[in-house]
Amino acid sequence: MIAGIDLGTTNSLIGVYDSGFPTLLADADGNRLTPSVVHYVANGSVLVGREARRMEALHPESTLSSVKRLIGRRLGDEGTEGMTGAMGSAVTLPIRGRNLTPEEVSSEILKRLKAIAETRLGHPLSQAVITVPAYFNDAQRAATKRAGELAGFTVERILAEPTAAALAYGLDKLRDRSKVAVYDLGGGTFDLSILQLDNGVFEVLATHGDTRLGGDDLDEAIATLIARKAKLGDLTPESSIRLTESAREAKERLSTEESLTIRLPFLSGSSSLEILLTRGEIEEVCDPIIRRTRAHCLRSLEDAGLKAEDLDQVILVGGSTRMPLVQKSVAEIFAKEPNLSQHPDEAVALGAVLQAAILEGNLQHVTLLDVTPLSLGIETFGGLMNVIIPRNTTIPTKAGEMFTNAVAGQSGMTITILQGEREMSADNWKLGSFDILFPPAPKGAARVGVQFSLDANGILEVLARDTTAGTEKIVEIKSAVEVSDEAVEAMLAGSLEHAFEDMDARIFTEARLKAEEMLPAVEAALEQLAGDLPPTEVTDIRAKSAEVTSALEANETTRLKQALSALDQATQTLATKLIERAMKG
Ligand code: ADP
Ligand code: MG
Repeated sequence: MIAGIDLGTTNSLIGVYDSGFPTLLADADGNRLTPSVVHYVANGSVLVGREARRMEALHPESTLSSVKRLIGRRLGDEGTEGMTGAMGSAVTLPIRGRNLTPEEVSSEILKRLKAIAETRLGHPLSQAVITVPAYFNDAQRAATKRAGELAGFTVERILAEPTAAALAYGLDKLRDRSKVAVYDLGGGTFDLSILQLDNGVFEVLATHGDTRLGGDDLDEAIATLIARKAKLGDLTPESSIRLTESAREAKERLSTEESLTIRLPFLSGSSSLEILLTRGEIEEVCDPIIRRTRAHCLRSLEDAGLKAEDLDQVILVGGSTRMPLVQKSVAEIFAKEPNLSQHPDEAVALGAVLQAAILEGNLQHVTLLDVTPLSLGIETFGGLMNVIIPRNTTIPTKAGEMFTNAVAGQSGMTITILQGEREMSADNWKLGSFDILFPPAPKGAARVGVQFSLDANGILEVLARDTTAGTEKIVEIKSAVEVSDEAVEAMLAGSLEHAFEDMDARIFTEARLKAEEMLPAVEAALEQLAGDLPPTEVTDIRAKSAEVTSALEANETTRLKQALSALDQATQTLATKLIERAMKG
């Protein structure tokens, strides 16, 4: 197994290709993004990620962030301004009396990612694909590779970030010579790369950017805005860090919300801050910063000898492109709606995982088995087929649904996995079944998610999870796609031939379930409230209930549906009285 790693300036991620799916791995707290921050503790130990970021405010002198800017650099290069030492010598970072190289620091991040992955997978992981910006030169690539080796990886490939992102967006499936713009706005850097697909391989035609332009600048601008709105005076370094953190949080939330209230108790001395912030307000201060990306986009196009209309796709990468204003300005620059189908801050890592899978030899069969020949689903209450992956879905694919209990006090569900096109589960093929247990719950209270993952090899993995208690069960079924043509044809013919009866059976079953729920409920309500109703109405309800029972016994669908709707009508007053009584209670 080869890991795919996005070693980012702000955040890093790791993933693997596991039984047909690229999967990004989360730490014990469920975070897939690990901040690229390293803190050196006095006792010699090292903290990485969120813990290190928390230490940055208190101990900036022993905490390092954004070291990616310095990896493979020599004094005098871009990014080394203000550092002391002989021009041309390798950059080192003085920390607690030691001189660390940027690759040593980066290797701490990679060690952390490796540990996260090994914990999740339960076995060691020693090979990796690591991504770097397209503009990284040989020295920067070699230093990144060294960082991987220091962390205990054999680095199988160094991959350009825009290429990885294009893979994650599935653009290797575009026609040959397609052209793609990759707009990557992260925490501290911006890149625009133009790629061309050449015999299934992406070639970088042009890349331009700004290594000092990103989400951090937006945070600063928003912090200044908040300070101005709240009329804040001078802040201590600690308060100013708190303010910037809350600006970042507000910025991220305002990508989906329209407005919010910021509260910072005791921000300066005894005075607290509480202000309302809207998306419009932050867009106003962020706009000039985002606008700076435009020139780089135009230069890249010019370098590649292309016009915006020559592009087949524009894809978004980097957490900052989650901002609606960024998406809008990208659409304006390229006169084309950007592709929003992937999580922008995970796309590079996902692409690294796909590249790893290609190197493992695990991805070559994707086009061999491309669609599901028959629908896959599970049996639900009353013996009905509930389709989860419809017939003719392109594989690999993944789909799921949430189910609940139909009966009060139920303490488990049997998940029966079915294949076929018929409405009633008994007419479909049973591929397997298993039970998932949960604490006894009132009707409709249990929450069981069922997820079907069908990999490129046709192996179906069914996962059922009780989302309240967190218990889960997984079964694997090998034969989901290996069905003979004749069997598929017979099933399809059967589903056509029996289409009307099947539909009737489904409607009858649904009506029967409704009747079985309604009859006892009406009976119980009558017992409580018959005295409050005119006797003629009580007689009428009893007669309509009896008709439901008899239609049910006679197995007559249309009659049952009519009887149910008549009973529904007749019990309107009864239902209202029941609610009134409950309200009084
Ligand atoms: P990098 O590639 O630089 O390592 P990322 O792609 O992870 O970094 O981007 C991190 C940046 O994305 C941060 O500035 C963060 O605030 C920003 N970001 C993350 N989520 C959102 C969001 N929902 N809205 C706006 N910005 C976001
Ligand atoms: Mg990035």
